Amino acid sequence: MSAEAQAFLDTCRALVGAAHVLHEAADMAPFLRDWRGRFTGSARAVLRPGSVEEVAALVRACAAARVPIVPQGGNTGLVLGSVPDAAGTAVVLSLARLNRVRAVDAVNRTMTVDAGCILQQAQEAAAAHDCLFPLSLAAEGSCTIGGNLSTNAGGTAVLRYGNARELCLGLEVVTPQGDIWSGLAGLRKDNTGYDLRDLYIGAEGTLGIITGAVLKLYPQPKAAITALVALASPAHALRLLSLLQDRAGASLTGFELMSAFCLRLVASHFPQLPRPFAQQHPQYALVELSSSESAAHAVALLEQAIGAAIEEAVALDAVVAASVAQSRGLWQLREHIPLAQAAAGKNIKHDIALPVSRIADFIATTEPLLQQAFPGCQLVCFGHLGDGNLHFNVAPPAGIGNEAFLANQEAVNRVVHDSVAQHGGSISAEHGIGALKRDELARYKSPVALQLMRAIKGALDPLNIMNPGKIL
Ligand code: FAD
Repeated sequence: MSAEAQAFLDTCRALVGAAHVLHEAADMAPFLRDWRGRFTGSARAVLRPGSVEEVAALVRACAAARVPIVPQGGNTGLVLGSVPDAAGTAVVLSLARLNRVRAVDAVNRTMTVDAGCILQQAQEAAAAHDCLFPLSLAAEGSCTIGGNLSTNAGGTAVLRYGNARELCLGLEVVTPQGDIWSGLAGLRKDNTGYDLRDLYIGAEGTLGIITGAVLKLYPQPKAAITALVALASPAHALRLLSLLQDRAGASLTGFELMSAFCLRLVASHFPQLPRPFAQQHPQYALVELSSSESAAHAVALLEQAIGAAIEEAVALDAVVAASVAQSRGLWQLREHIPLAQAAAGKNIKHDIALPVSRIADFIATTEPLLQQAFPGCQLVCFGHLGDGNLHFNVAPPAGIGNEAFLANQEAVNRVVHDSVAQHGGSISAEHGIGALKRDELARYKSPVALQLMRAIKGALDPLNIMNPGKIL
């Protein structure tokens, strides 16, 4: 190690204590490997500050030594945003020790938390005050609020409550210069110039480090009831969505699409999970209604709406959960799709957004294009249909190995992402850009938008030390 590198580590140790500056390979390993195990980066150290002031002091030290910083929360991101590249020049700055719920204000319906708070911990703190923090995703036991905000995470309740951006009223941020901006007022109205909060949300750690946030809370619903509805096609799923929105309004809190292939995959890898229908159907919608009155109210509303859908030939069949345990079982089918995919081997993944009205047309147009280019390929199509967000993953044809099929990544991306662009969609709905989709962003984002993004990055981080190589 050079004398300069040694001096930098000594400075960091003096700021946060030697125990919180990891530099042995074995200690750093979990922070350098991405969640899916596709990539392992390299770093000169992993820094674990224990306070906002320590974050600021470390950032100043990094700026002085021109050391790039990769902020990291739970490291559950799926686009290689939270791991360093292979150069070994950066530090990973983990927010894991900033994990306090600072305050809950039940009257203002807000909660102020450290950025390193695990999402599930934030949900539980809200529930202890009889409130709901509605952000919910399968990684909630590991991901952090700072990571959720930095990726503008979506999840299963966006239809009713919005993305992480809509759930945040204020931020505390350490700038690339090591200054602390405290914007934790928790106001629902504040028209005093540029919205700095919205700039940092979704910035994937490229503009500064989020250290704290004020989150919006909602009343706890009295009950949430789930149904699995069998459908003839994605077009019928869109008709069911409209019907439910008309009848249930804001009570509709979840609407997930799953193809027959997805449920077959889950059944083959997780045979212990429920199989609600004796017969197979082409598509399924997992629907959740919440009620502020009672479970009976939610069940009645859901049964009436689904009854109408079957009568109008929108739906083929349906199973309405009769208990919380049955609801859980139905949600498990949806949550196990990514796990079943992982068990089946790697595939080529796309996390895309489309105008809801164009989803059926997108699937009907894109699937034949894929079949033409890669005969026999398997489409694993599921997602948050109510938000216009599909996970549109492509698995190899039978007889072709998963690893071998990955060589087609570029060509498969071109078919899918060109079609997304033609349908007015986005190549990243909820996972962000990171390093994985940086070249795709350059291809599909308008030159003017890219120029504005570069101008913002250059103005806020002129030394380019915040997560360089991510997004841009
Ligand atoms: P990390 O992975 O640590 O970081 C993500 C990005 O944010 C990186 O660019 C990092 O540098 C930056 N960052 C992290 N913390 C900070 C901070 N404090 N300040 C500045 N920058 C920071 N995502 C969804 O949107 N919806 C889903 O339904 C969903 N489901 C998932 C299911 C599974 C099983 C898994 C593994 C992931 C899923 N994800 C989903 C992706 C992931 O969980 C989210 O992106 C999550 O918000 C990342 O949080 P994290 O704390 O793990 O962030």
